[in-house]
Amino acid sequence: MSAAEETIDALCTRCGLCCDGTLFTSVVCATGTEARRVEAAGLSLNFIEGVGAFTQPCSRLKDTRCTFYADRPTRCRKFECELLKRTDRDEVSRNEAVSIIEQTQLKAEIIRSLLRGLGDEDETVPLAHRCDRVMELPVEKDEDWWETYATFLLEVRALQARLKHDFYESAATNVP
Ligand code: SF4
Ligand code: SF4
Repeated sequence: MSAAEETIDALCTRCGLCCDGTLFTSVVCATGTEARRVEAAGLSLNFIEGVGAFTQPCSRLKDTRCTFYADRPTRCRKFECELLKRTDRDEVSRNEAVSIIEQTQLKAEIIRSLLRGLGDEDETVPLAHRCDRVMELPVEKDEDWWETYATFLLEVRALQARLKHDFYESAATNVP
C-alpha cells in the first residue's frame, strides 16, 4: 500500500463526511454511461437537463464506509478534502486528522439531534437542506423551540467554520 493509500485508509474509512450529507448535498455523475451504471447498481438518480445525480446521504454508505468503492463514480474517486491533502503532505499528523474528523462528526450529530428537537426528523435529507428547511419554518413557536433554535444557529455556524477550514476544497461553497 502506498503512503497516500495508507492515509486514505486511516482517515476515510472512519470518516464518511463527504458521503453522509454533511459536506455535500448530492453527487453528479460524470457521463450518461456512468449514470446508467450507477443507476443499475441501485442508486436512485435525479436527472436535470440529462445530467444524473444522486442525493446524499448516499445509500451506499454503511457506517463510515463506501459499499460501492470499486465502482464508485468519478466525482467520488476524485474528491479529496483539504484535511486528507494536508495529512498527505505531513502538515497534519494522522492522529490529529482523525481527531478533527471525530470532532466534526460529533458537531454534525449535535446539529442532527437539534434538528430532531426542532421537528425535522428526516435523516434521508442532506444536512444543508434540513437546516434550510428549519430556518424557513413559520415563526409561531414556543419559548423552548426558540431556545433550541438559538443553540442550533450557533452550532451550524461552528460547523460551517470547521468544514470551510478543514474540509472544503478552496473553490467549494456548498456549506450547510
Ligand atoms: S471528508 Fe475527507 S477524510 Fe472524510 S471521507 Fe471524505 S475525503 Fe476522506
Ligand atoms: S458511492 Fe461511495 S464514495 Fe460515492 S458518495 Fe456513495 S458512499 Fe460515498
